[in-house]
Amino acid sequence: MTPTCVSCEQGVSHCHGTLIVDILTLDCTDPDCQDLDVARHTLVLDATEIDEPSSSSVSTAA
Ligand SMILES: [Zn+2]
Ligand SMILES: [Zn+2]
Repeated sequence: MTPTCVSCEQGVSHCHGTLIVDILTLDCTDPDCQDLDVARHTLVLDATEIDEPSSSSVSTAA
């Protein structure tokens, strides 16, 4: 079993970890990650949306 993907075969600089995008910080689940660039990651987790409080129902109190 070879852990390769299209980017691996093409020699493209990329990361197999999950990039966690927060409001001000970037984090990667791969400890060997060298560059926290969104373009290098197939898996990107947007923490800004998860942390968002339940404000989907906005009350229009005028
Ligand atoms: Zn790869
Ligand atoms: Zn990474």
